[in-house]
Amino acid sequence: MTTSPHVSTDVPPADRHARTPPVTATLLGTGTSTGVPVIGCDCEVCTSADPRDTRTRCACYVEVGDMGLLIDTGPDFRAQALREDIDRIDAVCYTHHHFDHVVGLDDLRPYFRDNRRVMPCYAHAETAAVLRRNYDYVFGGDPYPGAANVELEVVDGPFRVPSRTAADTAVPVDPILLMHGDVPVYGYRLGRFAYLTDASAIPEASYEQLQGIDTLVLDGLRPRPHPTHFSFDEAVAAARRIGARETYLVHMTHDVRHAEAEAALPDDVHLAHDGLTLEVPAYDSAGQDER
Ligand SMILES: [Zn+2]
Ligand SMILES: [Zn+2]
Repeated sequence: MTTSPHVSTDVPPADRHARTPPVTATLLGTGTSTGVPVIGCDCEVCTSADPRDTRTRCACYVEVGDMGLLIDTGPDFRAQALREDIDRIDAVCYTHHHFDHVVGLDDLRPYFRDNRRVMPCYAHAETAAVLRRNYDYVFGGDPYPGAANVELEVVDGPFRVPSRTAADTAVPVDPILLMHGDVPVYGYRLGRFAYLTDASAIPEASYEQLQGIDTLVLDGLRPRPHPTHFSFDEAVAAARRIGARETYLVHMTHDVRHAEAEAALPDDVHLAHDGLTLEVPAYDSAGQDER
């Protein structure tokens, strides 16, 4: 019923994204799976008066042209969408199946009030299998009445996201394979922006897909190592290899006091905070501009 969203992987990223307009990325949430403050905790971060020390669960809203793409629907999605006044979602790109990235799925329903058209949900095959099992009433053959009109699209390479309002408009997106312990996770690249959360390793081929990134969002859990997330040192090392102009860390725990941690990071690596908006330039005319 749906056409394959895949596009050729032979085209280098700089060419594939040469015509992508500037991207505006809003970090809806920047906290680890518990959120910060942690329930019942009275540590100095959980009781901090600095609003940057309050972190909802990770998600990102990306505006490109007049389209809006959502990366993940965590447990705080409803509050995040109200806070940021998100009025349009053309598609969801899922990073992986863990609860802090998916359980807000049902709160997509209001986005079908004025537009019943299908909303594709892109995911790795393993992520899609879990979503299909856990949300049978949404993704199964006989959806519950009123369920969101979402459709899972398993992707294993670059694809194009169609607009839900304009038939001739689409935006190229590259899934970037990451490892989160043993769990395969997708980061996503749009134009010169990349969002890579929940990672403890980046495969070699994925580094190649990240050439030409201007603004990078990257997992950085806390200073101490962790088996399935980058520590700050590991995140900085990965950021160095990717070579973005600016890198912003997300998925932080309550071990991280924003003001102190930010001051200790290199000049081009920052701590993100909830609501932070990043303006990412397009490729300039050095790319292919044949428009
Ligand atoms: Zn997570
Ligand atoms: Zn705490």
